[in-house]
Amino acid sequence: MKNIPNSEIWFLTGTQHLYGEGPLLQVTANSQSIVDQLNASGRLPLKLVFKPILTRPEEIRATLLEANNNSTCAGVITWCHTFSPSKMWINGLLQLRKPLLHLATQFNQDLPWAEIDMDFMNLNQAAHGDREHGFIHARLRLPRKVVVGHWSDFEVQDRVAAWMRVTRAWADWQNGRYVRFGDNMRQVAVTDGDKVAAEARFGFSVNTHGVGDLRAVMEAVNDASIDTLCAEYEATYEVAPALRKAGDRHAILRYNARQEIGLRSFLEEGGFTGFSDTFEDLHGLAQLPGLAVQRLMADGYGFAGEGDWKTAAVVRAMKVIADGLPGGASFMEDYTYELNPSGQLVLGSHMLEICPSIAEGRPRLEVHPLGIGGKADPARLVFDARPGAAVNVALMDLGNRFRFLVNEVDAIKPPHDLPKLPVARAVWTCRPDFKTAVGAWIQAGGAHHTGYSYAVTAEHIEDLSEIAGVEVAIIDAETRTREFRQQLRNNEIYYHIAPGLGRM
Ligand code: MN
Repeated sequence: MKNIPNSEIWFLTGTQHLYGEGPLLQVTANSQSIVDQLNASGRLPLKLVFKPILTRPEEIRATLLEANNNSTCAGVITWCHTFSPSKMWINGLLQLRKPLLHLATQFNQDLPWAEIDMDFMNLNQAAHGDREHGFIHARLRLPRKVVVGHWSDFEVQDRVAAWMRVTRAWADWQNGRYVRFGDNMRQVAVTDGDKVAAEARFGFSVNTHGVGDLRAVMEAVNDASIDTLCAEYEATYEVAPALRKAGDRHAILRYNARQEIGLRSFLEEGGFTGFSDTFEDLHGLAQLPGLAVQRLMADGYGFAGEGDWKTAAVVRAMKVIADGLPGGASFMEDYTYELNPSGQLVLGSHMLEICPSIAEGRPRLEVHPLGIGGKADPARLVFDARPGAAVNVALMDLGNRFRFLVNEVDAIKPPHDLPKLPVARAVWTCRPDFKTAVGAWIQAGGAHHTGYSYAVTAEHIEDLSEIAGVEVAIIDAETRTREFRQQLRNNEIYYHIAPGLGRM
């Protein structure tokens, strides 16, 4: 994927001078060994960097300030090998601005029952060292992820790996730039929000450009590059005969290629990682970009329609999280329902812009009328999304805070052919069941626009919310309506009060 941050994670070991130099040399060797073996495990998406063991407040502070200022350090993992008095971490932790994971582990997996003596006990004291460490995190109200278990345990490694993916997405957001062509779709509420609050909270900026700026870049695209891209379309997709080089609607495909090349160059020149447009503001364009947007999403750009910059940023974050994993991620919209009591389903789609990274099989490239907006017919990729466990993720601005909302769903093969539906689509069942999930989603003010992915999990979004310090509500197999509603009420109070408790 293009423009993905080059990120690494620092591994920090807490200890102290109480036990003499010999044990400290052992702590260094053990810690280095953990880092080496975790890097060799093949289960971590980011490189783990060993840092010299930390024994004094000034070392801790200097290391954490260095982490803040190091552009490749996406986060820090802390662990206390021996009993590390964590009062000495206060000053450093209060200044830490990078994501924090506390790995509560121990160098030895098995207790040497027959050999254990006080030297072993003094060296392997994470059982209380990590509790002392956890106390200071709790006392300072620090956001963090806690992972518990032996460092060689696959479940432990996978939870660390999930967090690493999120730290890279967070780093991406800190430099994230989103362009919004035109404004919000008229009269729509949930797609809008406070861009200033979002930049302060999440790091990314959203700025507008007139669609005429894009048109000027599109007009500068030369015919030779359009020829090349059209040939690529014919090689990559099942292209409708009318759109092919000899077809009577080939001019439409050429216009779509012009849009793609223009959009791509506009995004590259502006250093943008995502964008939004709206069918209500296409002044000077012949049609709403469909194919172009689908292909740019497949290359890693965040996107959402109708001016929805929040969902564009969510889709981008999900793409960075999912980088290197099978499954894909896309902009999605809950479009229409199958309400037969014997099997209630959601059919998700959009007017055009579903990312082919979630496609089952080779997409078809077709042209059809759009039905709204009164513009020319746009080309688009048409496909079914693959079956499998997936998530829908929405981000809403509730006025006093942002709320992430996640629903775990199970995509299925569409139960019937959809011969007249001219757009890409996904069909899914909701966990725990349709009525509970949709009811909870609506109670939570969940948007109709989401980021949809087979690779991203609820754990990723929990980690992202923790780092950002925002609410997350999860609808999964365990969700019960009464508890969910009460959780939303409790969160109203918690997030009202929490800013006053922070970093005390
Ligand atoms: Mn929409």
